[in-house]
Amino acid sequence: MSRDATGPSTRSVHAGRARDPESGAIATPIHLSSTYFSRSTQDLVDYLEGRKPANFYARYANPTVDAAERKIAELEGGEQALCFGSGMAAISTLLLSQLRHGDNVVATRELYGGTFEFLERMLPRWGISATFAPPGDLEALERAIGPMTRLLYTESPTNPKLSVVDLRGVAAIARRKRIPCAIDSTFASPVNQRPIGLGFDFVVHSATKYLGGHCDLVGGVVVGPRERMKEVWHHRKLLGGILDPHSAYLLERGIKTMALRMERHNMNGLAVAAHLAEHPRVRRVYYPGLPDHPGHEIAKRQMTGFGGVLAFEVDGDKAAAIRVVEALELAYLAPSLGGVETLVSQPCMTSHYFIASEEREKQGISDSLVRVALGIEDSADLIRDLDRALETLS
Ligand code: PLP
Repeated sequence: MSRDATGPSTRSVHAGRARDPESGAIATPIHLSSTYFSRSTQDLVDYLEGRKPANFYARYANPTVDAAERKIAELEGGEQALCFGSGMAAISTLLLSQLRHGDNVVATRELYGGTFEFLERMLPRWGISATFAPPGDLEALERAIGPMTRLLYTESPTNPKLSVVDLRGVAAIARRKRIPCAIDSTFASPVNQRPIGLGFDFVVHSATKYLGGHCDLVGGVVVGPRERMKEVWHHRKLLGGILDPHSAYLLERGIKTMALRMERHNMNGLAVAAHLAEHPRVRRVYYPGLPDHPGHEIAKRQMTGFGGVLAFEVDGDKAAAIRVVEALELAYLAPSLGGVETLVSQPCMTSHYFIASEEREKQGISDSLVRVALGIEDSADLIRDLDRALETLS
């Protein structure tokens, strides 16, 4: 049966499956060996020259990591996936593998804080410049492309304000300009969005989030065409950021329930966003599933669900937002997202803490913005918890 013809839950369970004829194991074995023997020096050379696949050294590849990679590649509809020790390792390795001294990367402005910092502060140290365009303005994005631009980089929906980027539009620009394009699709997961089918070359995820799904691992992944992934693999090998086998096992196991989890995340997102949109103590809700969200129509065209993350402005200042997040009982005050427990944070105090306040202002990240990463609890309980916490503003 063609895996592409199967549904998202079947794909989450079976994608990339390799039967183990020796043990008959259903669960993926954890391969802890850091090195592998060869039968001959010729076998070694054949592997190093790319003539024969083999296990060689665990910084290069590992069978448990391979299993997670096959699964994610198939879920995204890409040729090859490579896993990393964190989302930031995946993102930084991808960028370094595609850009050289003198090159430029054009990116949409609203990005995970760590990615923004890497583009704005780190890449210039190696003579690579980054230019930013607003996420909703494709003309500005195209205008920002110069003769040395070698990569378009975007994120959608964005962290933390859930802006939606027109992915077909970005991919069309990249094709016209003959440069590859990459997207951080973490907030969507491969269940809600498959950017390669929309024309993207590379997809990255913080696997720490929806892919792992249980707040018990840190990981990242890059998916892309086999030929372009050679440089990414080479950089992973030299920068040393491969995922460890224990986390790879947790990741591959976590993905098996991803479609099921995403169904509940999507339901909770819609229910809680609709409730908060009517709440007298809430000034504004950012959630692409709400019909008045500026990216709603685009999101409907390119996503099959709107995810479990939303943000809202409390009707008050920074201190009021602190009161609300500290008053929650069910939801934890914690960074990250994508796990089964609901987590809340103030982006100005977490993911965007190290971004200058003027830049935060440019991105519309106010001090009273609260991000809610909904888990898979019952929405009625989450709403009760939020209502009670918002009461502290009365
Ligand atoms: N991309 C997005 C959208 C994120 O939210 C995060 C982390 O919060 C990252 C990348 C970085 O991932 P990691 O923390 O796994 O390095």
